[in-house]
Amino acid sequence: MRRPILRYGAPVLHCRARQVATVTPAIETLIDDMRETMHAAAGVGLAAPQVGESVRVCLVDLSAGRMPEQLHVLINPEVLAREGLQLREEGCLSVPGIEATVPRPATLSVRALDRDGSSREVHAEGLLARAIQHELDHLDGILFLDRLRPIYRWTLTRRIDRLRRAGKW
Ligand code: ZN
Repeated sequence: MRRPILRYGAPVLHCRARQVATVTPAIETLIDDMRETMHAAAGVGLAAPQVGESVRVCLVDLSAGRMPEQLHVLINPEVLAREGLQLREEGCLSVPGIEATVPRPATLSVRALDRDGSSREVHAEGLLARAIQHELDHLDGILFLDRLRPIYRWTLTRRIDRLRRAGKW
């Protein structure tokens, strides 16, 4: 089932999500819903807080649904290593219509539980490292806007506030 994607300003997007104790059927349903929601929105990543669930679950799929083997389901992800720096424009389904250049690690290794509850490691670089780091940030209540220089961030959040006041957010 598709779920509505919350936007910047929704409180759940701005707080730290809690660990998943066990992968219950409810978590599996959440993962299925998130996959459907992400693919319907043509996104390459989605974190549980974006659909209103404050739990440490996120999905990344650079193929946007075209190649099932590219779907990464990360439950309780923890960073093992981060190295280097990449700068590229990125956006977010919770911040529609806004893109900005965000500093991200060039390579990233994480350990996480899979959908079936088994532990696995992902070693990522380039776009995949960027996408995973973006989703990990969501689990800590951090949006890409929070990674920008203050003046740039202020300009963009002011634009969002204007849209919100006009009822267009
Ligand atoms: Zn996002």
